Amino acid sequence: MGIKLLTTPDYLADFEAYCPFGGIQAFTSFLVSNTLACTMTSAQIAMGLIFLLAIILFSKLFCSFICPIGSISEWLGKIGDKFKIRFTITGVTDKILRSLKYGLLFITVYFTVESSELFCKWFCPYYAVASGFNPDVNVIMAVGAILFVIIGSIFIRLLWCKYLCPLGALSNIFRYFILTVSILGIYLLLNAYVINISFIWPLAFLCGIAYIFEIYTMQSRIFPLLKVKRDAKICTSCKLCDKVCPQAIQVSKETVIKHIDCHLCADCLHVCPEKGALKINGKGRKWWPAIIVVILIIAGLIIGKSFELPTLSEYWAEPETKSQMEIYTIHDLKTVKCYGSSVAFSNRMYDMDGVYGIATYVSTFKVKIWYAPDMTDTLKIREWIFTPAKVQLQEIDLNEDNLIVYKIRVDNFLDQLDTENLKGLLAEQADIIGMQTEFGCPVYLTLYVKSNAQLTEENLKNIIEQRGLWSNSKSSIGAEYLNYHFKVVEVAKLDKVVSVEDVVRLFTIE
Ligand code: SF4
Ligand code: SF4
Ligand code: SF4
Repeated sequence: MGIKLLTTPDYLADFEAYCPFGGIQAFTSFLVSNTLACTMTSAQIAMGLIFLLAIILFSKLFCSFICPIGSISEWLGKIGDKFKIRFTITGVTDKILRSLKYGLLFITVYFTVESSELFCKWFCPYYAVASGFNPDVNVIMAVGAILFVIIGSIFIRLLWCKYLCPLGALSNIFRYFILTVSILGIYLLLNAYVINISFIWPLAFLCGIAYIFEIYTMQSRIFPLLKVKRDAKICTSCKLCDKVCPQAIQVSKETVIKHIDCHLCADCLHVCPEKGALKINGKGRKWWPAIIVVILIIAGLIIGKSFELPTLSEYWAEPETKSQMEIYTIHDLKTVKCYGSSVAFSNRMYDMDGVYGIATYVSTFKVKIWYAPDMTDTLKIREWIFTPAKVQLQEIDLNEDNLIVYKIRVDNFLDQLDTENLKGLLAEQADIIGMQTEFGCPVYLTLYVKSNAQLTEENLKNIIEQRGLWSNSKSSIGAEYLNYHFKVVEVAKLDKVVSVEDVVRLFTIE
């Protein structure tokens, strides 16, 4: 992303788009309430599901190789070690503090599912920094979390990772795979055949049971399938592995490392001077975890490109009628850009005769509309979505000569946000006094232009067909790049002119 930022002028780095924790939260929200948090991408969901699978099969590889917070915590910890000011919390305090991350996980998933917005954005130190503290961030919570990571890591071994990180808690839940699958299975069976139970109960149960298992056993047993194993016959007890382990696991005292905190970083294997003393599953595969991570990322990106889940999907007729409906897919419907606008769009379409359902895909501004072809058609649907507008763009000087009128047909023009975007493009031109739109396919646009303007038909076409503009409004990561796809099909300058008084009347009458 950093390289792309330097090489592609219009590129906006979307740092959160690949965070698996966001993907897992969003997928949970999708399963429970059939909605997705706004900014979710299929890449994020694919990454989330793939890294969950990786936890079960391999280990917490996200923690060991990808997570920037984990890396920074380890680096800061090395500073603490250098000055001999870092210590490892053990005993009862360690066990009590481990409950915090499960509490934070519960709260995060609960509010994400309830609101269809990623709650972790409020406090995630990584998101706060990467987004430049955008408006989604709760400054007090995020600054607190950043201080926890920075100061805490210097004085206490992996303070954030061990005690606060909700993704760490989720990873540990999935290390108790059989237990997790059993609880989720019972929940699904009860919901399907016996009684409708809120998702809060299995969530609370999973958090509570995993916490109890974690503090009593500090181990996972069968899963993950890959484990570090020590051959006591070769090991010389030099304890280099103990020193290098970021989790302070006593590798030199174990035969098989089942510790709940081991994330298969393989640091112990790399540092071990005795060939064959440490192996992964009995074989000297110290590069395997890193290679698996690369394969998983590539797989996540490929799978993420191959599907898209709707942000909101609603069908208000009888479900069995769905197969008889036609589907109209509209691309680039820019007003549908979040969960809230998806709900507003759904409410609007609900009022239209012959329309029975919608699905919105906000990351690509796409909507699908289910309609009865004997009651309506695609043109009527577009007309329903379209809102005609009259917009005065410049002050009108009453001493002005008559104004020239241009009639333009503009394609890829769908909704109110397109009106706003076009307004933004045209308002930059001091000679264009106002604009008016009417429905049509393509849309009819009328421009009122000063008589002494140097604008030609070609100029107007180029202005409207601009591919993008930097807006002043702040998106998640800075000024927003508005990407337009207007296509001018026809530009005609009318022979007749209109008086300034008529134009003033046009823009003042509602
Ligand atoms: S526990 Fe959380 S913060 Fe630590 S490395 Fe894992 S995901 Fe990152
Ligand atoms: S680094 Fe290798 S030889 Fe030394 S204690 Fe660990 S396993 Fe044994
Ligand atoms: S035991 Fe080895 S693989 Fe596990 S966390 Fe420690 S150094 Fe990494």
